[in-house]
Amino acid sequence: MTVLEKQLSRENNSVNVALSPLDREVLRHLNYTLGCLNENIDSNYLYRALAIAVRDRLVEHWSQTKSKMDESDNRRVYYLSLEFLIGRSLCNAIHNLDLNENAQKAAHQYGIGLEELAESEHDAGLGNGGLGRLAACFLDSCANLELPVVGYGIRYEYGMFHQHIENGRQVEDPDHWLRDGNPWEMERPEDERRIRFYGQTSQVIRDDGQTGVEWINTQDVLAIPYDMPIPGYKNGTVNTLRLWKATATSEFDLDEFNAGSYSEAVAAKNSAEQITMVLYPNDSSENGKELRLKQQYFLVSSSLQDVLATWTWKHGKDFSKFGEKNCFQLNDTHPACAVPELMRLLMDEHGQSWDQAWEITTQCMAYTNHTLLPEALERWSVRLYGNLLPRLLEIIYEINRRFLQMVAEKFPGDKDLLHRVSLIEEGHDPHIRMAYLSIVGSYSVNGVAQLHTDLLKAGLFSDFHNIWPERFNNKTNGVTQRRWLAHCNPGLRELLNETIGDGWQKDLSKIKQVEEHCDDAEFRVRWTNVKQDNKKALTNYVRQNTGVEFDPSFLFDVQVKRIHEYKRQLLNTLHCIHLYDRIKRGDTSGMVPRCVLIGGKAAPGYHLAKLIVKLINNVASVVNSDPETRDLLRMVFFPNYRVSAMEVICPGTDLSEQISTAGKEASGTGNMKFMMNGALTVGTLDGANIEIREKAGAENFFLFGLNAPEVVETRKNYRPNEIIAADEEIRRVMEMLEGGMFNQNEPGLFDILTTGLRNPQDQWVTMADFRSYIDVQREVGTAYQNQDLWSRMSIINVANSGWFSSDRTIQQYADEIWKVKKLS
Ligand SMILES: *Cc1c(COP(=O)(O)O)cnc(C)c1O
Repeated sequence: MTVLEKQLSRENNSVNVALSPLDREVLRHLNYTLGCLNENIDSNYLYRALAIAVRDRLVEHWSQTKSKMDESDNRRVYYLSLEFLIGRSLCNAIHNLDLNENAQKAAHQYGIGLEELAESEHDAGLGNGGLGRLAACFLDSCANLELPVVGYGIRYEYGMFHQHIENGRQVEDPDHWLRDGNPWEMERPEDERRIRFYGQTSQVIRDDGQTGVEWINTQDVLAIPYDMPIPGYKNGTVNTLRLWKATATSEFDLDEFNAGSYSEAVAAKNSAEQITMVLYPNDSSENGKELRLKQQYFLVSSSLQDVLATWTWKHGKDFSKFGEKNCFQLNDTHPACAVPELMRLLMDEHGQSWDQAWEITTQCMAYTNHTLLPEALERWSVRLYGNLLPRLLEIIYEINRRFLQMVAEKFPGDKDLLHRVSLIEEGHDPHIRMAYLSIVGSYSVNGVAQLHTDLLKAGLFSDFHNIWPERFNNKTNGVTQRRWLAHCNPGLRELLNETIGDGWQKDLSKIKQVEEHCDDAEFRVRWTNVKQDNKKALTNYVRQNTGVEFDPSFLFDVQVKRIHEYKRQLLNTLHCIHLYDRIKRGDTSGMVPRCVLIGGKAAPGYHLAKLIVKLINNVASVVNSDPETRDLLRMVFFPNYRVSAMEVICPGTDLSEQISTAGKEASGTGNMKFMMNGALTVGTLDGANIEIREKAGAENFFLFGLNAPEVVETRKNYRPNEIIAADEEIRRVMEMLEGGMFNQNEPGLFDILTTGLRNPQDQWVTMADFRSYIDVQREVGTAYQNQDLWSRMSIINVANSGWFSSDRTIQQYADEIWKVKKLS
C-alpha cells in the first residue's frame, strides 16, 4: 500500500476503500507520474493527476479517430487560424466523456471539489476575442459531428495578456500559461518541418528539363508540432488541434559553433524561438510588424507542408485529386499567405505547372471575412514582404498579372476597375491587399452573419461580387452549447434535462421544446430560482475579484467583450451616469435597482480604449462610494475578462448589452452565449443581433438605435451638439462628465472622450442613439419588475437559441463549403 492508499483508507474509516478505476488511475498518476507521495495533496497536483487520467481515456479514441481518417478517402478540412481561444480543457473533456460523476468522486477522495480543482488550470488564452473563441467552438462542433477536420495554429509561449487595474487603469501582465506544464498537449518531434525566410530566388533547370525557381540563401527555423485532443460529445471521436512551436535548426548552431562563437550559436536559438513567443494582442486592428508576418508564414508553411507530406506518403507524386480531397479554411486574412505558399510548394517542391497548381489551390482554399472595419483590413508593405518572403512576392505578382488580365477581358475598357481590384495598392509605398488575395485564391468567401455578408457584397467586396457572385455566401456564427450552457450552467442544464430530456446537448434545435413550458407558473419559478443561484455565484465572483458587493435581487446588466470604440462601452457608461443623475435628483419612480458589470481588455497600444477603461472605473468608484445611490445602482469594471470568467458571468446575467454602432459588429458571439443562458438582450440591429431578434421574436428583445443604412445617412449631417443641447437629460450627463465629476484629481483627463462624442465626424454616432437607449432601458426596467413576464421572455429566448449552436454553423460549412461528410 502506498502512503496515499493508507491515508485514503484512514479517512474513509475502513480498511478496504472501494476505489473506482478512475480513482486508481488518479492515485497512480499522483504517486508515479508526478512523484507525489506526500500525505497532503494540494489541488494543483490533484488537477494534474486527474487531467492525465482523463487524457489517458482520450488517447485510445484519439488514435482510433486518426486511423479512421487515414483509412477513409473522404475530403479533409484544415482550419487555419492564428488564434484558438480555448480556455480550460479539463471539465470540457470530463463532460464530453460523460465522466462527471466519477471525476467528482475522485476529487472528493481528497476533500476537494471538482470545481475548485479545475481552477488550477490556466486558461489556454491563445486568442484575442470573438475570432479566436469561434475557432475553438468550431473544433468542438466538428468533433461532435464527427467531421474529418484538423485545426492548425501556433503554440504561443505567452497567450493573451492578463489585465489588472491600478488606480482605475489597465495594466498588462504576461501570460506564461505553460509555466506548470500542459497535460493537454503531446509533442510530435517526428513531424517537424523546416521553414525558410529571407534569401533570394534564382532560376534553375529542373530534372525534367523545364526551368524552375529556387529559393536560396535562406535563414531557416524548425516547426515542432504539439497536438491537443479535441473530444466529441459522447461519440468516441477525438479530433486534433496541431499547434506549432518554433525552434532553431541544428546546423544553424553548428555553423556559428565552427566559426568559434559558441555562445552566439546558443543565443541564436532565441531569435528562432521568438517567432512563437507571444500572441499579438490586437483585436480588429493591424500593426504591420515583421514578426507578425513571420508568425503567419510560419503557421501556414508548416501546416501546408504537413498536409502535403501526408498526401505524398499515400499518393506519391499524383496531385490530380489533391484539390478534391483537401480543403483549407482561412480564419480571416491572417493565414492568407496560404494561397502563394501552396502555389510555391506545388510548383517548386512538387513539380506542378502554374496551371495545375492554380487549379488545385483555387479548388481547396476558402476564406472567412470577420470585419468591415478599415483599420482591421490587412495590408503588407511590398518591400517588407519581398524581403522576408521573396518567392511568395513573385508568385503574388504573377497571380495579380493573370487576374487583372482576366478582369480586363471580362470588363473591357474599365481601367478604374483594374485599379480598384488590383492585389497591389499602388503608391510610393505599395502594399499587398490580403483580403483581395484571399478572394482571388479561394472558391468560397463567407461573412459571419447575414447583415455582414450583405454589407460585404454591397460595399467592401462589391467589385469582386460582380466578378464572381457565386463565391460569396453567409455562415452565421454560433457557439458550442456544451461549454456555453451544459458545462457553465449546471443548474439550467439539469432543469432542461428533466423537462425535455438531454438531446439538446447533441442537437440544440431540440431546445425549442422548452417553449411549451413558458406559461407554466411552477416551471417559471424553477427557472427563476436557477437564475437566482447563478446570480449569487456571480456576486461571489465579483466580490472575490473586485471587492465590490453586488446584490442578487438587483437586475444584473452586463457588457463583456474587447474594449473598442465601435462596441460603445462609452454609451453604456453614459447611461450609468444618467441613472446616477436620476437617483441624485430624486427621479427614481419606477426605477429598477441595477448592478452594472463591464469587462474586457483593451489592446495595449489603443489609448482611447484604455481611457474608456479608466472612465468606467472612475464612474464606478463615484457611484459605489455614494451611500445615497447604493440601493438603486452599483457598478463594477470586472478585470481580466477571459473564457473562464465568461463561464461564471453569462449564467448570472439578466440583461446582455449588445450595443455596437449598427453595421460595425460583424456577428458577435457573446450575444449568443447570453441568449442560451436566459439573459434578455438590449441591442442594436447589428451583426447576429438581428437574427437573435428574429428567432426570439421582436417582443422578446429590447431594440434601440439606428439601423445600418440610417447610420450611413445620419453621418452625412450629424450634429451631436444639437442633440445634446435639445435633450435636458443628455445635457446633464455631458455636464457631469465635462464638469470633472469623475476626474476631480486629474482635470481634463476625459476631454478626448467628450470631444469625440461632440464631434460631427464621430464614426460611432453615439449621441444619435443615446436617447433611444435611455428610453429602451426604461422599458427593460419595467419588464424586469414583472417577474412572470421576464421569466417567460427568458424561457422563449433560450427555447429559440438552437440556431446559434456552432453545430448548426459547422453543418452548413460542411454541406455548403467543405462538401465533407461525417467519418463513418
Ligand atoms: C465570446 C467571447 C468573446 C466575444 O465576445 P463579443 O461580445 O462577441 O465581442 C470575447 N472574449 C471572450 C473571452 C469570449 O468568451
